[in-house]
Amino acid sequence: MPRPKNNRIVFEPPLYKVFVPKGEDSVKPGKVKIGLDEIEAVRLADYNGLTHEEASVAMQISRSTFTRLIEKARKKIADIVINGKELVIEGGNVHFKNNVIKCLDCHVVVKTKIEECITECPTCHSHNLLNFAGSYGHGDCCTNI
Ligand SMILES: [Zn+2]
Ligand SMILES: [Zn+2]
Repeated sequence: MPRPKNNRIVFEPPLYKVFVPKGEDSVKPGKVKIGLDEIEAVRLADYNGLTHEEASVAMQISRSTFTRLIEKARKKIADIVINGKELVIEGGNVHFKNNVIKCLDCHVVVKTKIEECITECPTCHSHNLLNFAGSYGHGDCCTNI
């Protein structure tokens, strides 16, 4: 399948997909979806402290696209924190540069290049592995970037 031109590059899959507010009342929180590209923008600029220019280069998008992306992400995060909503990370027009593999037996976390295919835990040799890129519906599609 040909890759659309405007895919954004995400360094590696996020470790946590869902965040739920903890509170006294059990009112069902609203749900806010944040794209993998939006969370990557926050990671690069707000967490790692890159300029918008540097971060846009890392994601292989224009600076103006990056600015729009991070503004959208910040609005959503503000809504989540202020109003106690559930955050779900999913979607976004992205491919991963690297992958994260977690052993479900000994819980070791291994970071790999996206094209590396680990089938055995390096610590306990288990084959019971969680492939993070795979869990976001990625893997092979990311390797031809
Ligand atoms: Zn293991
Ligand atoms: Zn992909």
